[in-house]
Amino acid sequence: MRIAQVLIPLPLPEAFDYAEPEAMSLAVGDVVAAPLGPRLVRGVVTGLRDGAGVNRPLKLVAGRIETPPLPPQSLAFVEWAARYAVDQPGQPLAIALRGSTAPKERPQRVAQLTGKAPARMTPARERVLAAAAGAELAPAALARAAGVSAGVVSALIADGVLAEAFRETAVDFAPPDPEHARPTLNPSQAAALTELERLVASDRFGVALLDGVTGSGKTEVYLEAAAAALRRAPDAQVLILLPEIALTEAVIARIAARFGAEPAAWHSGVAPQRRRRVWEAVARGKCRIVVGARSALFLPFAKLRLIVVDEEHDGSYKQEDGFIYQARDLAVARAKLGDAPVVLASATPSLETLWNAETGRYRWLRLASRHGGALLPTISLVDLRASPPEPGRWLSPPLIIAMKEALTRGEQALLFLNRRGYAPVVLCRACGERLSAPDSDSWLVEHRYSGRLVCHLTGFSMPKPDRCPHCGAKQSLVSVGPGVERVEEEARELFPDARLAVFSSDTVAGPDAARELIAAMAEGEIDILVATQGAAKGHNFPNLTLVGVVDADLGLRGGDLRAAERTFQLLAQVAGRAGRWQKPGRALLQTWAPEHPVMQALAAQDRDAFVALEMAEREAAGLPPFGRLAAVIVSGSDAAALDGFVRDFAAAAPNAEGVDVFGPADAPFSLVRGRRRKRFLVRADRAVDLQAFLAAWRARTKVPGSVRLTIDVDPYSFL
Ligand code: ADP
Repeated sequence: MRIAQVLIPLPLPEAFDYAEPEAMSLAVGDVVAAPLGPRLVRGVVTGLRDGAGVNRPLKLVAGRIETPPLPPQSLAFVEWAARYAVDQPGQPLAIALRGSTAPKERPQRVAQLTGKAPARMTPARERVLAAAAGAELAPAALARAAGVSAGVVSALIADGVLAEAFRETAVDFAPPDPEHARPTLNPSQAAALTELERLVASDRFGVALLDGVTGSGKTEVYLEAAAAALRRAPDAQVLILLPEIALTEAVIARIAARFGAEPAAWHSGVAPQRRRRVWEAVARGKCRIVVGARSALFLPFAKLRLIVVDEEHDGSYKQEDGFIYQARDLAVARAKLGDAPVVLASATPSLETLWNAETGRYRWLRLASRHGGALLPTISLVDLRASPPEPGRWLSPPLIIAMKEALTRGEQALLFLNRRGYAPVVLCRACGERLSAPDSDSWLVEHRYSGRLVCHLTGFSMPKPDRCPHCGAKQSLVSVGPGVERVEEEARELFPDARLAVFSSDTVAGPDAARELIAAMAEGEIDILVATQGAAKGHNFPNLTLVGVVDADLGLRGGDLRAAERTFQLLAQVAGRAGRWQKPGRALLQTWAPEHPVMQALAAQDRDAFVALEMAEREAAGLPPFGRLAAVIVSGSDAAALDGFVRDFAAAAPNAEGVDVFGPADAPFSLVRGRRRKRFLVRADRAVDLQAFLAAWRARTKVPGSVRLTIDVDPYSFL
């Protein structure tokens, strides 16, 4: 008898032992059903050992589930990620299995070769036969893959050269052709590619930073690196990670044009049945390019040869709830496990990545100028103390004049404000009360489109009342400060003939709506786009020449570790939307603090100066990338139990060299959904194994059922 260790995708501390039924011949990676209490649950076999001599009674594995097994590298990655995040391995396993559990797609029609030779051969028919030999595709997809009209395929079916069959889910993705449409690279792109090709050809782990200003052609270069990886083997796979779903469509279109075949998309907007198809095809090596959000890292790649992390500095790579991880860092770990290279691309790399490049751990490839001679936009600061907007308004006279000029020339303007809704605060004029959510200590944000007050922390919402809930005064509530909806209102009054649109997660419900709005902007159907950060990244709007940043200081106010870095990156990205093509662009940043080093560096377009300053400050404080950080957040609805636990937990902190524990302190949001929250912050020298320290600490106290303890390694949010 053998014993199977089965890891279950639930927050459990370890894999459980089961007995392997006679003749099941399980293998590591197999997905099985196993009894857990009264239920049958799905799990993955992580180990098999001889059961001779074991005399405790073990439950039997119930059966194997018909799905491809998890490859060894995926399993190793799940275990590595759990240790990194100081979390239970079932948590990342749940992400890794997410695609395999959806219902199957309805049967799909595919065209198969019958073996009969066509009566007459033409070049078009030849291409169809070649494509059909490479993959099982639906007739329409086969025609697209071969670059022929649907008629060619139906004639071959009528001839009996191809036969139609139905397949459950096993419909392949058209294989990408690395030679399909090769671009001509400019000299600095070609130099960067040579380095990347060398890295790809080594079949070894290595990290390259592709560092180039917006519009320098980084995408073009990393697609060529992808081509090099695809050429390595007929089943080699490439993963391209993007920070925003809104960006995937544009990249998918570019990949389809470059490789003559659509890649698979992987993000929360992909339907479950489709996800299952992608998951299975990735495991069988039949899906060779995946474009996805962070969770795509956990797909069961059979032969991953390259990972690209585009906009690597982007904070969206940090997953903040459930299993907490930084996808850029995990991408590097995943590549290492698979002896594959990683390309990190950005115009404003994170300090962590720059530090790795400066110290020689990463190869540093630079693209210094925009492709085709397009100029970078000029960036100027609008000092709001000298040129304030009218009272109750948010656009300053210099920005209004610049908008007028751009619109007169028939060009587009983008107004950027990273704040959803109409007004961030609603105040009672009579009693001074600020409206906050009933179970959380965050302000309610007014949304005029929906007529509701919304808590952005928890999603709680209520209709806007007509009297103050605190003092009962009628008509006393006033909206304070601007959100995108209010800026749109102001722009509409100033430019009644202009075509306006708002891009925020409230106006753009999903990837389809995002794609439509972005296409409308790219095609010039919008004159003024008021947008939060979703529209600020990555897109090419040929006729956009003016970017106005309504509140450049907004991101600096949070005061957390990365406030300055994030503000610099975001505003440099936003400004980079202007003048991407022939027309010169400009960006105006409205600020109350033009002397702030971030504003000065942006105006001078001097990234190096900003980075040097910020690095020096981090180094002096021993903060990342010069030290390590982790947060421990403890919450509970029973105040006494929470306080008792926090006291015990604080006292249990191990004494370790090179580690400082700060706290406990009330979290800035100290009440969320009725739960009180306390935070600890741990700072450690780089040489310290921070994860081991945290795991040891947690193991020293028993967490009561009413208390939740969350560890956040390398925190991005300090709330
Ligand atoms: P980045 O990713 O650095 O922002 P892109 O790769 O999107 O830059 O390139 C910016 C624009 O220039 C795109 O429209 C792209 O198609 C074009 N471009 C870049 N490199 C080339 C090239 N070698 N040949 C033709 N067009 C290019």
